[in-house]
Amino acid sequence: MAIVGAGPAGLLLAALLARHDIDAVIVEQRSAEYVLSRIRAGVLEQTTVDLLREAGVADRCLQEGLTHDGIELSFDGGLHRIDFRALTGKHVTVYGQTEVTHDLMRSRAGANLTTDYEAADVEIEGFDGEHPVVRYVRNGVVQELACDFIAGCDGYHGVCRASVPREAITTYEKVYPFGWLGVLADVPPVRPELIYANHERGFALCSQRSKARSRYYVQCSLDDQVDQWSDDAFWDELRRRLPAEIAEAVTTGPSIEKSIAPLRSFVAEPMRFGRLFLAGDAAHIVPPTGAKGLNLAATDVGYLARGLAEYYLEGSDAGLDEYSARCLSRVWKAERFSWWFTSLMHRLPEAGAFGFRLQQAELTYLVGSRSASSALAENYVGLPI
Ligand SMILES: Cc1cc2nc3c(=O)[nH]c(=O)nc-3n(C[C@H](O)[C@H](O)[C@H](O)COP(=O)(O)OP(=O)(O)OC[C@H]3O[C@@H](n4cnc5c(N)ncnc54)[C@H](O)[C@@H]3O)c2cc1C
Repeated sequence: MAIVGAGPAGLLLAALLARHDIDAVIVEQRSAEYVLSRIRAGVLEQTTVDLLREAGVADRCLQEGLTHDGIELSFDGGLHRIDFRALTGKHVTVYGQTEVTHDLMRSRAGANLTTDYEAADVEIEGFDGEHPVVRYVRNGVVQELACDFIAGCDGYHGVCRASVPREAITTYEKVYPFGWLGVLADVPPVRPELIYANHERGFALCSQRSKARSRYYVQCSLDDQVDQWSDDAFWDELRRRLPAEIAEAVTTGPSIEKSIAPLRSFVAEPMRFGRLFLAGDAAHIVPPTGAKGLNLAATDVGYLARGLAEYYLEGSDAGLDEYSARCLSRVWKAERFSWWFTSLMHRLPEAGAFGFRLQQAELTYLVGSRSASSALAENYVGLPI
């Protein structure tokens, strides 16, 4: 196997394949340090934790991850809890993507498995025939990796999806007219669980990575630049969007990372092209509101690893043939949920005052209705693989 991309999708796929003694080489364009420096997801569904366990890398996540039995929704000056445990019997685990990546990298290095970091000019070819090849330049030398299959785990901007002939792929996309300004700070979270806030000034999210490290976001304009936002300006804006008693309780501190992420929904269909399989952000993007991106990447590679194990160990193509349809069925459920939750919680420029009042009405209905709260909870904690 050749795996392009050493994000969570590529690393987890390689770890799952290693459990079946299936050889995989990962080719990554960035350095290991750069990959580890990207601050992203933090909420893991149980299926993702189960896959980490299956890959033999869940120990630290199980020890240090925080079990969250619910979230809080803030709107109209009040705070309302959605109790996942009571509504679904399930929970999510708060454990940073950086930590997941770190655990996967360490396990791979410990087993002496190859990851070629800082690979330049990565190209793939031959995946429509019997002999796929990944070609790249490392330390000035051209490397050629002949393989049975290529896993395109190289994210939204990667080379794998871009190498598929235009007529073989259909893409669906929605770009949202706002972004998220995120701050990571070594301060204790304001509440034990995440707060999703709908406010006239825009959305805010109080998230966390541990009991000592918080991740906060505010909805911002796509024209905003990170350096326009001092730490003080960020904390002031965050507090304006929270109920008074929560705003007062926020512990502020210097940011250790600050970035702006645009929001996008995107799906490429199918996810298999001959001997090339796309997985994770290479095939689909969700706005981060529903906390689904990393979880979808994990379930994609869970399906792919099973399909490959059946192929190599049992001589069956069935799992590989079903890969694309199985993934896309789950992907579209997550796309729907992420779009709905984003539309409900953000200030939508085109919707005006009427749209804002409708959001308040829908949120009031949501927190007052067991079936509506259950639907949110079921989607948030995740669907079975
Ligand atoms: C602000 C924010 C918050 C988020 N919060 C959540 C959350 O709470 N829960 C959740 O589930 N998800 C969340 N996500 C989404 C999640 O981070 C992504 O879905 C996840 O990183 C996808 O993993 P991946 O391995 O598919 O892609 P990536 O993490 O993008 O990894 C792809 C890798 O491929 C490499 N690469 C790219 N091009 C090439 C090339 N040509 N050759 C070789 N290598 C290449 C890249 O350097 C990268 O290392 C969030 C995202 C953002 C931006």
